[in-house]
Amino acid sequence: MADLEINAKITDVFRLTPPQKNAAERIGLTTLEDLFRHLPLRYLDAAMLKPINEVTHGEEVAVEGKVKKIDSKKAWRKKITMTEATIMDNTGELRATWFHQPYISKMLAPDDFVRLEGKAAEKNGKIYISNPAFEKISRPSYHGTVSPTLTPVYPATQGLSSRWIQYHIQKTFGGFKEQDIEDTIPQDILDRYHLPSLWQSLRAIHFPKNQGEVEGARKRLAFDEIFFIQLSRMQERMRLEQQSSLSIPYDKKSLESFLNQLPFDLTETQNRVLDIILEDVSRKTPMARLLEGDVGSGKTVIAAATAYLSTTAGFQTTYMAPTAILARQHFDGFCKAIGGHFTKIGLLTSSEARVFPSKAYTGQSAHISKSQMQKWLESGEIKILIGTHSLLNEKIKFKNLAFIVVDEQHRFGIKQRQKLARSKSQDHEFVPHFLSMTATPIPRTLALTVFGDLDLAVLDELPPGRSPIISEVLVKPKTRSWDHIRNELKKGRQAFIICPRIDEGGPDALVGAGDEKKSVKKEYENMSKHIFPEFTSGMLHGKMKPKEKENALKDFRDKKIDILIATSVVEVGIDIPNATVMVVEGADRFGLAQLHQLRGRIGRGEHQSYFYAVSDSTTQKTVTRLKSLVKAKSGFELAEYDLQQRGPGELTGKNQWGLSDVGMEALKNIKMVEAARTEARRILEDSPELKEYPSLKTRMDELNKSSFYHFE
Ligand code: ADP
Ligand code: MG
Repeated sequence: MADLEINAKITDVFRLTPPQKNAAERIGLTTLEDLFRHLPLRYLDAAMLKPINEVTHGEEVAVEGKVKKIDSKKAWRKKITMTEATIMDNTGELRATWFHQPYISKMLAPDDFVRLEGKAAEKNGKIYISNPAFEKISRPSYHGTVSPTLTPVYPATQGLSSRWIQYHIQKTFGGFKEQDIEDTIPQDILDRYHLPSLWQSLRAIHFPKNQGEVEGARKRLAFDEIFFIQLSRMQERMRLEQQSSLSIPYDKKSLESFLNQLPFDLTETQNRVLDIILEDVSRKTPMARLLEGDVGSGKTVIAAATAYLSTTAGFQTTYMAPTAILARQHFDGFCKAIGGHFTKIGLLTSSEARVFPSKAYTGQSAHISKSQMQKWLESGEIKILIGTHSLLNEKIKFKNLAFIVVDEQHRFGIKQRQKLARSKSQDHEFVPHFLSMTATPIPRTLALTVFGDLDLAVLDELPPGRSPIISEVLVKPKTRSWDHIRNELKKGRQAFIICPRIDEGGPDALVGAGDEKKSVKKEYENMSKHIFPEFTSGMLHGKMKPKEKENALKDFRDKKIDILIATSVVEVGIDIPNATVMVVEGADRFGLAQLHQLRGRIGRGEHQSYFYAVSDSTTQKTVTRLKSLVKAKSGFELAEYDLQQRGPGELTGKNQWGLSDVGMEALKNIKMVEAARTEARRILEDSPELKEYPSLKTRMDELNKSSFYHFE
């Protein structure tokens, strides 16, 4: 095929049916270049393919054949669907079974040809494959046709099969010579790191001669991805540095008076980090900083101290929390610590607006209308505004906003973060200083790329006097002893019982989302009537009204409730030092990071705390995974563990950060990440707006427009 342009629309080049068009759109295939950059998930090795009668027990194998019969049924007693198919080739037949995937019986029909891949097993002398990967094919390749040794398998979607993608790449890629595909990475960089050109890499990826070639090519494409992210983040940072912000004087006297009224002394680490931040905000260029510290490390007080100095200087601060419950908690905390006649503090969530202090009742806050709130923000009367996403509302304008805090920043998208960071004061002159706080451990490579526009500060010490939480994993026992928890409650302590929140339609969704309330209610009945009738129980779940949630939490804080039965809504930030016991039911449904966050709700006071992860699943893998919670004391250790246990494709955060599998692999390679950073910096220092690098600029603009950068 001659004279094709790399940016030709695939709909102009191929004849697509409407469903194919939809599918292509869905997975972002618009141009030929998109198609060429659609990378195989893996390769089928022809050596794995076997005639059915040669398949033996225990081997990883691929077979190809015709579907003889297929049907789905509910497995006896359980609510599990099982799909069973018989596949035959001209040497024999075998059985394939799938659990929980009823749609397979709709995708495959008798007489279809399929390729199956999986681990073969034997039962009663018959070979079968359980949960094999499968792919519909037009005809078996084993007998007769010669297939290449490595056949790429592409991420497919309903409507576009891997075969379709392979066929169309085969048909067009050959029409492009090396000089037809412009390399976006400058030649000297490629030379410096011995990276293959873009064309060479794509050729090797789609038509590999051997595995080594594939690896070299993936490395180059990984570099590509990381390099562009860094270029974009760094450019953003350089642009930010051209802006000016209000300088918050580093007033040691005021700082001291703030610190003196705290019920504790700051740790050495807190002092060091606070010093860095106060230095930052005293400058006239905007701070852009990420504060990372494990749950309970005491990040809030650092933000509060900075807010205090901002207020003392006559400027405004805003603090965004991920949930209304947390916003309220911080509001109460700020009011107590720094609120007063000269320091009015506002609370804004989707359901309410409040101000402290109330005119009528000293020491209390009062409801106000949202328009009153807007007025007081614009006039500068309200000095500190705490709230949820509602802060992002266009109508919210400040008189002189100097400082922005985003708490638990992993809960917000980068767009929201940027929107808030750019929210300017009325006079439009100043960009606020920006502090983002997170308890999610961030590997260095990630900090350098995805968060490359932020400076990093780490709180790597917990406040003193905390004894480590004793954690235990319980594999769903028939009867469980609640005696220990009862003893704690008798001593006046309080307990959380967490029920899993189940996403509707997820792969393991045996129960729908509507059942969240049901599961909490059921547990509540069980606890209050049968297990702990002598204590008071309360409920907290996502389906409750904001007011109800707040009351439940308040009752728990005021010790009117001994046991709070909740979903993971309590996961972030909630601070109730007297709660010393947490039981997580269905712990196998939670990620490790999430369990660690949950665990962070206890162990916040002087008393010994206990954490129980109850697993419904008894599989070795799950139990081992959960047991890592017992050993790992910090989120950092857990993140390490997660990295080792999971394949690159399953790394937590991949979707969150918008990285491809290839990009994720690159994050394991600090040398590559540093090299990409050095090169990105060199280019931007040379040409900040990339005027001298037109092809880099074009690609950056394209990527910025696409969804590529919507990470976090
Ligand atoms: P996180 O970093 O998870 O947001 P918080 O800011 O909520 O942690 O702090 C956790 C608890 O530790 C709070 O009750 C806070 O008052 C307390 N705390 C913070 N710093 C110290 C300290 N230096 N000494 C004692 N307690 C502290
Ligand atoms: Mg916090």
